[in-house]
Amino acid sequence: MAASIYPDYPPDLTSEQSAYLLSNVKDWSILNGLAVRPSLSFVPKEVDPSRSLAVTAPVTLFPSLFPRRCFEEARAIQTAYNELYALIARDEEWLREIIEELVEVDDFIANLWNVHLEVKKVGYVQSLSLGIFRSDYMVHKDPSQPDSNPEIKQVEFNTIASSFGGLAAKVSGLHSHLLSISAYPSTVPTLITKSFLPSNPSIASISQGLATAHRAYAPSKSHPPLPLCIVFVVQDPENNVFDQHALGSTLLADHNILTFRLPFSATLAYTSIPSDNPSRPLIYKPPHSPSTAYEVTTLYFRAGYAPTEYNSSESWNARLHLERSAAIKCPTILTHLAGSKKIQQVLTTPSSPHLERFLSSTSSAEYINRVRATFAAIYPLDDTAAGKHAIGIATDAGKASGYVLKPQREGGGNNIYGLKIPPFIKSLGEDGKKYRGHILMELIEPPALRNSVFRNGGVTSGEVIGELGVYGVCLWHYGEEVAGPKILENWEAGFLLRTKGRRKAKKEA
Ligand code: ADP
Ligand code: MG
Repeated sequence: MAASIYPDYPPDLTSEQSAYLLSNVKDWSILNGLAVRPSLSFVPKEVDPSRSLAVTAPVTLFPSLFPRRCFEEARAIQTAYNELYALIARDEEWLREIIEELVEVDDFIANLWNVHLEVKKVGYVQSLSLGIFRSDYMVHKDPSQPDSNPEIKQVEFNTIASSFGGLAAKVSGLHSHLLSISAYPSTVPTLITKSFLPSNPSIASISQGLATAHRAYAPSKSHPPLPLCIVFVVQDPENNVFDQHALGSTLLADHNILTFRLPFSATLAYTSIPSDNPSRPLIYKPPHSPSTAYEVTTLYFRAGYAPTEYNSSESWNARLHLERSAAIKCPTILTHLAGSKKIQQVLTTPSSPHLERFLSSTSSAEYINRVRATFAAIYPLDDTAAGKHAIGIATDAGKASGYVLKPQREGGGNNIYGLKIPPFIKSLGEDGKKYRGHILMELIEPPALRNSVFRNGGVTSGEVIGELGVYGVCLWHYGEEVAGPKILENWEAGFLLRTKGRRKAKKEA
């Protein structure tokens, strides 16, 4: 663990100060929708069979410190990252070479790729793609260079279901509120000031992205025309409902756009594409009002990224059905695949030409190098020289402790850390074929700080680390047939500063 770069913070509180702070955290959070449905392990189904309970989303009592320069740099390069991933998603040939290697060893990736091929056979009818991205970073400080500045290293780039944009802005609002009502003891405000707490535009900005896609789709392609809506494709059960509602209610209030949340498993039942309309509009008939038909301008996927969500061939039919429709997808299959860990590994390959290939027509060499500076070391596990080197590390208990092994998955809980890597690698089989579905990444070890986290009704205090996510919105054209600019909209859309318990140091990993 790198030496801390942070001042001694936060102060110890008296029991009265703690009680005041905590009661305001609870009340403000529920009042303002900074909430989640509790997980079933916290509130068993028998206790809340109708799933009507909500609890405060886990939050820190104090705003977590984060180096300002790192924070500003991450936000400043977001539009370059948006453009990079939009252009990758447009470059089917480039993607194909990488994805086809995974197809042989990873059924989930193979099925996604197959959906794309199936739609290609009948032709895509929608050339616009929407990206609501989130690029995640941790702070890295080179332990061998005590005087070096902390810098950001990218953990991953999310192209599907980038969550918490609807809650992150509220966390910023909560901490500002606590400051305003003097819930922090007087020793703290020297560190926490209004300028210390940057405002977070994530709700307005991500909603603006969805509204922009919605307007770009119009008018209705149905005969006669139908009212338009956006559909959020969600999980079932979904814990993160209020994050989604924050966007849906902003779309209604600020843009007069109607949104519906529809479980992925219900999409085949409640949406259809009229067989006599070659434009393939996606028609949604809400279960509560089947006689009212809406045309879906934009499908915002907050689900569909985990293999467990595809538990039958119907699930793959559903993804194909949605992909072949005229609705603007956020994301398309190609954009979803562009977010694979393998793509991140290929981009970060030392002296690779990829960044220049995608960015040099719009970005200066200096700007491209700022993107490159965020890359951590990531290795393939294949029979290239770099791959053999990485397999050597991954199979050696003496070396693996500084690394994390990742499959091509999203949504957390899939990574293998440190000393667990060698036995896991062994379990993949001796011939090494399955290694290729994984990448090996150097562990970033951010400096620790202290904070108190309120989660599931209890407070835990101790050493934590920060992980910064920066949101980006991008709307682009897929295909060559469209004249004019390929990227129509591109902006940085706010941030998420997550505070996590710190992982044990290398030797304990
Ligand atoms: P997922 O798609 O499952 O979210 P991530 O790559 O984001 O996969 O990894 C999940 C979490 O694991 C991250 O949010 C981060 O906390 C931790 N993690 C991932 N990569 C690293 C790394 N190189 N160094 C330190 N922690 C990491
Ligand atoms: Mg992640």
